[in-house]
Amino acid sequence: MVTTNPHAALLASPGMGHLIPMVELGKRLLTHHGFDVTIFIVATDSSTTTSQILKQTSNLSSLNIVVLPPIDFSSKPGPNPSLGEQVVIAMIESLPLLHSSIMSMKLRPSTLIVDLFGTCAFPMARDFHMSTYVFFATSAWFSAVTIYVPVIDKEMEERHVYSHEPLLVPGCEPVRFEDTLEPFLSLVGPVYEGYLKASQDIVSSDGILINTWQDLEPASTKAVRESSILGRFTKGPVYPVGPLVRNIEPRQEHVAVLHWLDGQPAESVIYVSFGSGGTMSEDQMKELAWGLELSQQRFVWVVRPPMEDETSGAFFDVAKGGDNAAAYLPHGFIERTKETGLVVPLWAPQAEILGHPSTGGFVTHCGWNSVLESILNVVPMVAWPLYAEQKMNASLLEEQLGVAVRAKVAEEGGTGRVVRREEITMLIRRVMVDEEGVNMRKKLEELKKSGEVALSKFGSSYESLCQMTKVCELRVQGSKAKAQGA
Ligand code: UDP
Repeated sequence: MVTTNPHAALLASPGMGHLIPMVELGKRLLTHHGFDVTIFIVATDSSTTTSQILKQTSNLSSLNIVVLPPIDFSSKPGPNPSLGEQVVIAMIESLPLLHSSIMSMKLRPSTLIVDLFGTCAFPMARDFHMSTYVFFATSAWFSAVTIYVPVIDKEMEERHVYSHEPLLVPGCEPVRFEDTLEPFLSLVGPVYEGYLKASQDIVSSDGILINTWQDLEPASTKAVRESSILGRFTKGPVYPVGPLVRNIEPRQEHVAVLHWLDGQPAESVIYVSFGSGGTMSEDQMKELAWGLELSQQRFVWVVRPPMEDETSGAFFDVAKGGDNAAAYLPHGFIERTKETGLVVPLWAPQAEILGHPSTGGFVTHCGWNSVLESILNVVPMVAWPLYAEQKMNASLLEEQLGVAVRAKVAEEGGTGRVVRREEITMLIRRVMVDEEGVNMRKKLEELKKSGEVALSKFGSSYESLCQMTKVCELRVQGSKAKAQGA
C-alpha cells in the first residue's frame, strides 16, 4: 500500500555522530515539510546512549523509530577491519531485518534516505519502488571529494597518493595530503574499494542532501550543485539542508556538569571532548591534562580510558570503560584542579554544554556535528582532528573560516607523536584569553546568523528541502495514479 503523504524511511548507520543528524533530519521533514517519517537505527552498542537520544526526541510521537536488533559482527571475517568497513558490515548484516520490517508496514515508505554507509540498501529500496537519497552528515567539501571519486583523473589521484601532491577537486579548495581521507592512504585494498563503490552508489541516487549551508561553504556548495562543475556527475540534484543540530532540551533533572557550569563566570570554561568515539594514548591524555592545568583556565573534560594506536576506539560503544580517570591521568591532577575543572567520564550533554553561557571554547576532534554545534553556539575551537574526514574539517575551520586554531603533533621527542603540553596550553590561551578568540567569536556570530537564515522560511536550506519534498510528492502522486489506473 502507498501513502498519500510522502513517507520517508531514514536509515541511520551505527555511531551517535550518524544517528543524531539523521534524527534531526527526520524531525525537520516531519515538522516543516509534511513527510511521514520512520527512522531505522542500526545499533551495535548496548549502551544507554542510543536510548537517551531517542528519549530526547520522544516528544515527537509521530516520529516512528525502529531500532533494528543489534548486530554482533565480532566474528565476521577479515583481520583488523577499519572503522568504515565495520560500519558497512553492520549495515549489510541489517538488510534482511530492514527488509522484513518494511514488508510488515501497512503504509510503506516511498523514499529511502541513507547516510554514507547505507547505500547497500538501495537495491532493496528500488525493489520496493522507493526513491533513493543520501544524507551527508558532513561538509560540502567532503561531499565534493566523494562525488568526484568515481570520475577522478587517475594520474592526479596517483600524484596525490604517491607523491603527496594536493588533490584538486573542481570548484573547491585542494585537499592537502596531510589532511587527506583514509581511503587515499592507499589506492588498493578494501578501504579504497569500499569508498569507491559507495561513491558510485551515491552519485546514482535520486538526490543528495548535505548538512551544510551556502554561506558556510560557498565554493564547495556551488561546486556540488552546478552542472558546469561537479553537479554533472550526480544523477539527481544536490540539496544543502543544514545546519541540522540537536536542540538544547529544557533541563528536567539535576545534571551535575550543567549545575557546575551555572556557578562559573561567562565564557570562562573550555570544553574538551573528542566526540562519541574518539580515544587517545595514555601519554597523550597525560599531556592534555598537563596542558589544561598549565593553561590556568576552567575546563570540562569528557574522558574515556586511553587506547594505544586507536583513535576511534569507543565508536561502537560510547559507554565502554569505567569511571577510573584517576588511574590514567597524572598523579594528583583531579585533586589539584578540583576548584577549576570537572572531569566527566564517557559522555556529557554536549549540546547543552556548548549552549551554556559559561562555555567559552571547545577543544574538539572536529566531527561535523560538533563543528556545527560549536558554530551555532558561537564557541571558538581548538581543532584536534583524529580520524575520518576530521582533518579536512579542521583545515576548513582554521584556514577557510578563521574560527579555530589547530593542534600540531610534535614530530620528535621523548613523548612520541603527541601534541605536547606547551602547545596545548598555548592553543587554549589563544582561544580563551587572547584577542584572537574575540575575533573568532565575531566571525562565528556571522556564521550562526547565516545558518539561522538558511533554515528559516524561504532560506536556502529550507527551500532545498521544499524542492526535494516536491519531487517526492510528485512521485507518490505518480504511483497512486498508476495504482488507480491498474
Ligand atoms: N556527543 C554528546 N556527548 C558526548 C560526545 C558526543 O552529546 O560526550 C554528541 C555531540 O553533541 C554530537 C555527536 O555526539 O552531536 C558526535 O558527533 P560528531 O560528528 O561530532 O562526532 P563523531 O562522534 O561522529 O566522531
